[in-house]
Amino acid sequence: MPHRVAVTCPECAGEAVFEFAERVRIKTKNDLHWFEKSKHFDCLKEAGPNGQEYHSAIYYNGLMGNALPLISDLPRGYRIDDWAHSDHMFRSLNDWRGTFVCESCGKRSKHSLDWPREAYFQIEYRDQNLWAFDRASTVELIDYIGASHRKTDDFIYWPFLMKIPHVFLTRQARETVEKRLRKRLA
Ligand SMILES: [Zn+2]
Repeated sequence: MPHRVAVTCPECAGEAVFEFAERVRIKTKNDLHWFEKSKHFDCLKEAGPNGQEYHSAIYYNGLMGNALPLISDLPRGYRIDDWAHSDHMFRSLNDWRGTFVCESCGKRSKHSLDWPREAYFQIEYRDQNLWAFDRASTVELIDYIGASHRKTDDFIYWPFLMKIPHVFLTRQARETVEKRLRKRLA
């Protein structure tokens, strides 16, 4: 998934943004004390693959503004950039925690994403749901569904196009599906 996805606001039904939180493993007990006291981070106890426990510091990107905070006294061995999203467009999924921001009504909170149920760009066709991550991927989806010759090189940039159920891709579905998607974009 991308680091940010479009979600439906439960308060105003508008288009809101969910942004994934980032976590970094805490190295020592002293560090843990520091992170526990910090107002910028939450601490999380986790179990590793071998059953050993460790702590992580989780930062909710986007909760207090779009930039990472300037913190002058981070413990040694950490940089605030450690909590930046990776440069990869898509992230592997291990945690659904993040920040919910709705510009329309001002709702801003920590949130556990329920995907794709909360996807803003989703439509129903013949009892099946079709969804996209955000505005840009919805445009790609419309192009792809509407194209008379579907190009597989789009898959490199938009791997999710590969996974569209056949029911949305039939000749008879095309017009209705396109129209419903466009309505969400309006
Ligand atoms: Zn809202």
